[in-house]
Amino acid sequence: MPSLERWVYFFGNGRADGSAAMRDILGGKGAGLAEMANLGLPVPPGFTISAKLCNTYLEQGTFPGQLHEEVDHHLKQLEQATKKKFGDARNPLLVSVRSGAAVSMPGMMETILNLGLNDETVQGLLAGSQNPRFAYDSYRRFVQMYGDVVFDLGKEPFEEVLGECKRRRKAARDIDLPPDDLKALVHEFKSIIQAKRGVPFPEDPTAQLWGAIEAVFQSWRTRRAVDYRKVHGIPDDLGTAVNVVAMVYGNMGDDSGTGVAFTRDCRTGENLLNGDFLTSAQGEDVVSGARTPDSLFKMKRGKLAKVYQELEHVTAKLERHFKDVQDIEFTFEHGRLYLLQTRRAQRTGLAAVRIAVEMVEERLITADEAVQRVPPQDLDQLFHPMVDPRAAVTVVAKGLPASPGAAIGEAVFDADEAEALAQRGHQVILVRPETSPEDFHGIVAARAVLTARGGMTSHAAVVARGMGKTCVVGAQAIEVDPHAGRFRANGRVVKQGQVITVDGTTGRVILGAAKLVEPKVGGHYAKLMAWADQRRRLHVRANADTPADAKRAREFGAEGIGLCRTEHMFFEGDRIVAMREMIVAPDEAGRRRALAKLLPMQRGDFEGIFAAMDGYPVTIRLLDPPLHEFLPHTRAEVAQLAKVMKLPPAQLQRIVASLVEANPMLGHRGCRLGITYPEITEMQARAIFEAACRVVARGKKVVTEVMIPLVAHVEELRRQAAIVRRVAREVFQADGRAVPYLVGTMIELPRAALTADEIAKEADFFSFGTNDLTQTTFGLSRDDAGRFLPFYVERGILSDDPFQVLDQDGVGKLVEIAVRLGRGARNELKIGICGEHGGEPASVKFCHRVGMNYVSCSPFRVPIARLAAAQAALEEQGVINRTRATV
Ligand code: PEP
Ligand code: MG
Repeated sequence: MPSLERWVYFFGNGRADGSAAMRDILGGKGAGLAEMANLGLPVPPGFTISAKLCNTYLEQGTFPGQLHEEVDHHLKQLEQATKKKFGDARNPLLVSVRSGAAVSMPGMMETILNLGLNDETVQGLLAGSQNPRFAYDSYRRFVQMYGDVVFDLGKEPFEEVLGECKRRRKAARDIDLPPDDLKALVHEFKSIIQAKRGVPFPEDPTAQLWGAIEAVFQSWRTRRAVDYRKVHGIPDDLGTAVNVVAMVYGNMGDDSGTGVAFTRDCRTGENLLNGDFLTSAQGEDVVSGARTPDSLFKMKRGKLAKVYQELEHVTAKLERHFKDVQDIEFTFEHGRLYLLQTRRAQRTGLAAVRIAVEMVEERLITADEAVQRVPPQDLDQLFHPMVDPRAAVTVVAKGLPASPGAAIGEAVFDADEAEALAQRGHQVILVRPETSPEDFHGIVAARAVLTARGGMTSHAAVVARGMGKTCVVGAQAIEVDPHAGRFRANGRVVKQGQVITVDGTTGRVILGAAKLVEPKVGGHYAKLMAWADQRRRLHVRANADTPADAKRAREFGAEGIGLCRTEHMFFEGDRIVAMREMIVAPDEAGRRRALAKLLPMQRGDFEGIFAAMDGYPVTIRLLDPPLHEFLPHTRAEVAQLAKVMKLPPAQLQRIVASLVEANPMLGHRGCRLGITYPEITEMQARAIFEAACRVVARGKKVVTEVMIPLVAHVEELRRQAAIVRRVAREVFQADGRAVPYLVGTMIELPRAALTADEIAKEADFFSFGTNDLTQTTFGLSRDDAGRFLPFYVERGILSDDPFQVLDQDGVGKLVEIAVRLGRGARNELKIGICGEHGGEPASVKFCHRVGMNYVSCSPFRVPIARLAAAQAALEEQGVINRTRATV
């Protein structure tokens, strides 16, 4: 029985079967073409084959029965619209066949141009254009792309022959080759296909078309497409649509060309139409980076001024229509403009913020929409370091500043190698003549990307910008030799492994490690964050262990400290010795001696932190040292400590050996330490309250929250809290003043979560330690998970690393239970999170939904959490995020 489902959708001549709302079926490209046709914009006619077919085709290897019929029918419609005929020797219809998924994957899938050419139809193209160079250039491009994409031969075998031919002829551009050479290339390319695949190149246009359609669907499963989806969190089951569009020709001479335009600057956000173009070229030439294109501004004057004006007009219309920055592909044929694609432009974090804010000022969008538009994670890029403007640097080359920030690393010339070295902890810079999608995994692994060729819209530029990765492209002065593992630039040679700095803000390539400085964020950021702060309900605090961290946290907008890990204060200088002395002390007297040394240090640090936070709450966690982090390891360390403790080194060595635990993460740590040695809790409580009194005496406000770690049973908390409260009374009595404080606990063990009602009776607040809670819920070690967890994520067993993105289904369930039980027992219970997840957008949104009062994360992630919290509040109110509806 024929299915009622429709598989093919037509567009062109001012109307379309589909629209922008049908991205899931038409893919982004197809939806954009349909919408542009509906808007009456100049798009060549064509049709889109539904993305819904992609997965069934990939699984079953066949198409539904009626698809052939539907394609034939639409091909006829296309013939009528163009007044050309597919396969006709006199007036041939040629088409492009291009992929297009619902979510933009720039350069990730396949394109075939000029399909329909063969030895007969090329004659028609020749007669119609009277331009043999154009006709044969189109033909050789087609066979070349077909060989690459459909026969899966890659680009190299064809590029090699083409390059050789250009060298022989001393031709700078492909199109400069004489027609006879181009014709010979067609022949040679066909022989390559025959030789390598054992089958002839298909001369029949219908066979060509079906070969191309199948290849586009299959491209959904290529490694680079799979990798891209993984990095960007795009579901595998979306599938790609296939667009079959009547060809328009940018390679018809100097009044023809092709380009890419952005309605605003996607690096800085400036409201300025910009882009790249090439005359006498077809689509792929600009994006592939094979030729370095001209800036769009060059079109403004001279022969192409009229095309530019029209481009300005239609692109502005598109931006107003979609209410977002558009990334547009266009072609002009003998001065006539056609739009081939429009999509939401990828942008840097800096640009995202400026564009969102300015669009509100221009009344294109609302402040709610602006807040929802900026991906929280992208704010990270605003705080990327840049090369110190005052530093003396040796610039070896300059390219186009494709993606801002500066990065230092070893030059590496191969994507696989970049990946392998990065896995071993190296910081690498991927240097390539140009990048192609095959290099994607290398780009992911690298700190920055540098290419000798390509423009601002080349693959490397677009991909790196999307990831917020520093990138410089088109550094013409560098000559890259990937095989020899080196590049030359202005008389210098940089070899594999040599350190360079890439400055994506200015385009400079610098020898050695330049001095980097933190950037200053501007008024747009402040405005956006003010809107976010007005909308969020969650408070955002920072995890900060030192006065310097606390100061930085305030600068990032933290409204308090959610976690001060006191043991971290003791890593520096001589402090570790006193800390070790305390840990290894054989008896209480010895411990008290060491604690007396630690008290003033700790009190001093707390004073600094309280002063920096000036009235914002500061949560101080009592000692939680997994012992192995503090025990002396080397002989020298043992000897030093033995001297301080006036013990024979051998005896100390025996004590240390006796303290070694089989599993320190689950061992004598957290409150277990304070339970067995209450004098430690006493000392810490004293340091906290004495510091608080001193800072209050200086006229500042102090709000402190004392947090007991690793509680599993309410009795642990009861006993520890009793000590803290007793010491508080003693200190306040001695000082003659009282400082407000709370005593609470971390919820970081499953038992604590499951008995949260009991625990809440003793706690003024809960703070979820989701690092330990993840570890103990999964039963996997935080320290050892690196060996197998990446494998789990790669194979899709887990969608994310649960130490980065909160496992809402499992760990999250314990969190929900604890929140419910806790609040049930104590209505006003203050609840927060201080595990790493407190700065991860999806996890922050989860915390909002379960009703926490605050999240706490590292200072750099505070802006991310603030924005994510605002988005969570808007989502809860059902404010629609209109960016999703744009193409
Ligand atoms: C936690 O377990 O989530 C936590 C914040 O504590 P730590 O990482 O110090 O164990
Ligand atoms: Mg913990």
